[in-house]
Amino acid sequence: MTSQNPVFIPGPTNMPESLRKAIDMPTMDHRSAAFAEILHPALAAVKKVLKTETGEAFIFPASGTGGWETAIANTLSPGDKVLVGRNGMFSHRWIDMCERFGLDVQVIETPWGEGLPADRYEEALAADTGHAIKAVLATHNETATGVLSDISAVRRAMDKAGHPALFMVDGVSSIGSMDFRMDEWGVDIAVTGSQKGFMLPAGLAILGVSQKALSAMETAKLPRTFFDLRDMQAGYAKSGYPYTPAVGLMNGLKQACDMLLDEGLDNVFARHRRIADGVRAAVRAWGLSLCAREPQFYSDSVSAIRTPEGFDATRIVTHAAENYEMAFGVGLGEVAGKVFRIGHLGQLSAPLALTGIATAEMAMVDLGLPVTLGSGVAAAQSVYRHGDVVLTKEAA
Ligand SMILES: *Cc1c(COP(=O)(O)O)cnc(C)c1O
Repeated sequence: MTSQNPVFIPGPTNMPESLRKAIDMPTMDHRSAAFAEILHPALAAVKKVLKTETGEAFIFPASGTGGWETAIANTLSPGDKVLVGRNGMFSHRWIDMCERFGLDVQVIETPWGEGLPADRYEEALAADTGHAIKAVLATHNETATGVLSDISAVRRAMDKAGHPALFMVDGVSSIGSMDFRMDEWGVDIAVTGSQKGFMLPAGLAILGVSQKALSAMETAKLPRTFFDLRDMQAGYAKSGYPYTPAVGLMNGLKQACDMLLDEGLDNVFARHRRIADGVRAAVRAWGLSLCAREPQFYSDSVSAIRTPEGFDATRIVTHAAENYEMAFGVGLGEVAGKVFRIGHLGQLSAPLALTGIATAEMAMVDLGLPVTLGSGVAAAQSVYRHGDVVLTKEAA
């Protein structure tokens, strides 16, 4: 697609012009002193976005999936037991990775559309009196279903059970768009990537790692080379990398963090909430429902929208792409064909969101769904026109 339309997929997200410029750099010798001026500010800024003072930040030339692998391979040994909830395609894929690493995976099956159940984590942890479980895994925002889980509740479950396992959280589609508190929630490893809340192209795996997780790495026996945090630490100590870093993307990351921090993280989260509220109002006006079953599970970064029984939801995505050059997300896994997704994270404002809502509406009417033209737009407008719409600097 060559159009100038914004994308409404939940990553990669729309890129602010200033970040496109920031990543477009002449070749730099990454062993020169100039690289330190990119590396250290980027690491420091990432820590602020993750809300960690005690943990360390790591940036790999990879994607979020590489972040998952970094978390597992650096802290666990073959056969180690992990406890993990599955409520959508992304949590499923992390589970699949654990299995491929030869870990003993205890899965808390959760209906797609619901948040991860802290009480069932607590039950499983309380039953594990011998502390065989070495890590607890949770996906903060399940991008496939548009479901947000309560990470602080999972932490409380671990504390109530008095369980010493490491706590690893996938925040790929939440960090930088919804509240995330690494230190306060006792997260040992937070995983994200560059192409969602950070508004950059894919290409960086971004992690926050606690001191506890860093100590676990001394005894962990899973094989690791590219993702070995010890090599990365040794590199950072000399302002360098164990291999060639993605310099331009890291320069972009530093500026992306500055953009988020300048806007103010709370303002960023409020902007996402407001935009998402408008999308949700549109969904109600269309007479459709979200995959997320209850308001407490609603994600402010992506909405998965159920279409009527017997209708293939993927047609909306294909039709919008072919006729309006606008990208929406398809349903994945269990909800393939049953939902389509509107991504509303990153560089986005309420007026831009209206273009996505209007276009989804046209596509649905074109395809014969019983949706009234203008209904969703009007519902979203009534959400957006009240109060101050906080625009990003770029969109203002
Ligand atoms: C996008 C996403 C991933 C995968 O990240 P990649 O950068 O595509 O490897 C993992 N988890 C969640 C929740 C995601 O949204």
